Amino acid sequence: MEMFNVFNIPTGVAQINDRVVQAAKRTNRDPSQVKIVAVSKFIAPERIVEALQAGITILGENRVQEFLHKYSMIEGPVEWHLVGTLQTNKVKQVVGRVELIHSLDRFSLAAEISRQAKSAGIEVNVLVQVNISREPSKHGLERSKVIPFLKQVSQLEGLRVKGLMTIAPLGNQEVVRLVFREMHELFEQIAKLDIPKVEMKYLSMGMTDDFEVAVEEGANLLRIGTGIFGKRLMIKREG
Ligand SMILES: *Cc1c(COP(=O)(O)O)cnc(C)c1O
Repeated sequence: MEMFNVFNIPTGVAQINDRVVQAAKRTNRDPSQVKIVAVSKFIAPERIVEALQAGITILGENRVQEFLHKYSMIEGPVEWHLVGTLQTNKVKQVVGRVELIHSLDRFSLAAEISRQAKSAGIEVNVLVQVNISREPSKHGLERSKVIPFLKQVSQLEGLRVKGLMTIAPLGNQEVVRLVFREMHELFEQIAKLDIPKVEMKYLSMGMTDDFEVAVEEGANLLRIGTGIFGKRLMIKREG
């Protein structure tokens, strides 16, 4: 049994950066327009710091408790994103602490974010999560519901939509490519609509197994865990 995570984080960061540059070049995109969110769930703070030292500037967490713990432990100029499903009763704890919430998927959540943002006197940036492949196991709005949802959300104060996010279906890269392509089309379509307080700045898609396809299909925010930190140990270590 593997007792220690011996994955070399600076090497992981360098390899991911390199592959992003190559994928961008293949499609004549400017690699500097593609940002990496290092998804640090299950990773200990001292390991996360190694990624920051290797040039990572954005960290993503998917559970609020774990995020709060790390937020209190890790100092320095780092931008935090929440990439996982957010329960309405936890919104208060993340508002003002995260730069971007990737997972807005229902109106009740938008309303609570708005409420908490107003009471904190700030604006909260969010992405709308889309379930293009309509997998029942995945969160996110169906494609046909996204534009009506954006119009509804744009009525709320304290909340600014900055783009879209999706999690690709597992498996076949060509199916994944079509999902990413459809996301990009939707992103461009919405950008033309000029909905108040809705800006299509970020297209968050691509994880360790599919980020190169995502870059080729127009992603500008990648969420990468394993490729940066190595395989996650799914049980918490003791001591
Ligand atoms: C864990 C996670 C990732 C990163 O997954 P890897 O395959 O390890 O790169 C990205 N996005 C979300 C929402 C996640 O929960």
